[in-house]
Amino acid sequence: MPLQRHADIRSMNTFGVSAKAEYVGRFNDAEELRALLAMPELQGIPRMILGGGSNVLFTRDFPGALLLNEVMGMKVVREDDSHVWVKAGAGVGWHELVLNAVAQGWGGIENLSLIPGKVGAAPMQNIGAYGVEIKDTFDTLEALRIDDGSVVIFDREACLFGYRESFFKRLGREQYVILNVTFRLTKAPHALNTSYGNISGELVRMGISSPTIKDVSDAVIAIRRSKLPDPAVIGNAGSFFKNPVVAVEVAERIKQEHPDMPAYPAGEGMVKLAAGWLIEKAGWKGYRANGYGVHDRQALVLVNHGGATGNEIFTLSGEIIESIKERFGVELEREVNIV
Ligand SMILES: Cc1cc2nc3c(=O)[nH]c(=O)nc-3n(C[C@H](O)[C@H](O)[C@H](O)COP(=O)(O)OP(=O)(O)OC[C@H]3O[C@@H](n4cnc5c(N)ncnc54)[C@H](O)[C@@H]3O)c2cc1C
Repeated sequence: MPLQRHADIRSMNTFGVSAKAEYVGRFNDAEELRALLAMPELQGIPRMILGGGSNVLFTRDFPGALLLNEVMGMKVVREDDSHVWVKAGAGVGWHELVLNAVAQGWGGIENLSLIPGKVGAAPMQNIGAYGVEIKDTFDTLEALRIDDGSVVIFDREACLFGYRESFFKRLGREQYVILNVTFRLTKAPHALNTSYGNISGELVRMGISSPTIKDVSDAVIAIRRSKLPDPAVIGNAGSFFKNPVVAVEVAERIKQEHPDMPAYPAGEGMVKLAAGWLIEKAGWKGYRANGYGVHDRQALVLVNHGGATGNEIFTLSGEIIESIKERFGVELEREVNIV
């Protein structure tokens, strides 16, 4: 299992920023991962697991080892009249898992179509889109504890899922490597979730009145393609910021000046605002500086037009945070993992 040295990692992150990693290694299973972690070269240096690199921004060379998760496999591990339990290796492409589920007639993750990245990273930030999060179908996961190489099973409670949050992003950060995830998916008849975003509008446009999970998946794919930049064409990591959750009074204060501001209930006395709307209102949408900027169709997405450094994009994100604080008194938080 050779290690690559001084590897260029531009092709390993969807922002497409150039950076070097001291070492890059790959693993296909827990055994290979344990062997990698025990290598003398990798002692006493930072070690980071990388999936599809679609939620990271490298702001500098990485002075340690990037370990690429290539744990494959997908199988049904349990089944009853109404559900199937599907176990997927952490290295399986997320969208590949969704397409496979849809093709088999298993429901629950069709709204999460076309999210880039790998299965192993999905629990990290409880990926979500169009009114669905993975916590809704999550059953268990197996993770290797870096300390002692043991494999630990986490159920939904232990994962502490929240909005773009989990145990693995906070308390358990850099202590575990997710090896596989099991999802509990539905057999027909499915409870479809078409009320969020423009899914129902897209289904009408497609001429569909009784949608299947495949129709919902197709609608989500069409909407995402029309709104989000394809990382293969223009570097980005999707939403750069989280939607801020603020006290009702804060939202009401902003609404006095902007009655059209979108706001969604987020628990007792709290409201979720749309970060993209705030950024657009502050005039950043379509902003461009040399090789980087803010996407012109979706202000929540920062982009690398080509040749930008991670540090330039990071600096821009700081300027946006400052500007939103000044303009609306709201503190944005980065969703993307900064390295
Ligand atoms: C165009 C675009 C659209 C997007 N849309 C959405 C969206 O709608 N909803 C959404 O939630 N996200 C979205 N994202 C963000 C991203 O796709 C997800 O967060 C995805 O789950 C990241 O997967 P990855 O394999 O690329 O993770 P990486 O970027 O490789 O890693 C992300 C983090 O997880 C850690 N990690 C990765 N794998 C493991 C593992 N096996 N064990 C432990 N830690 C691990 C890494 O160390 C890193 O900290 C989008 C991104 C892009 C580029």
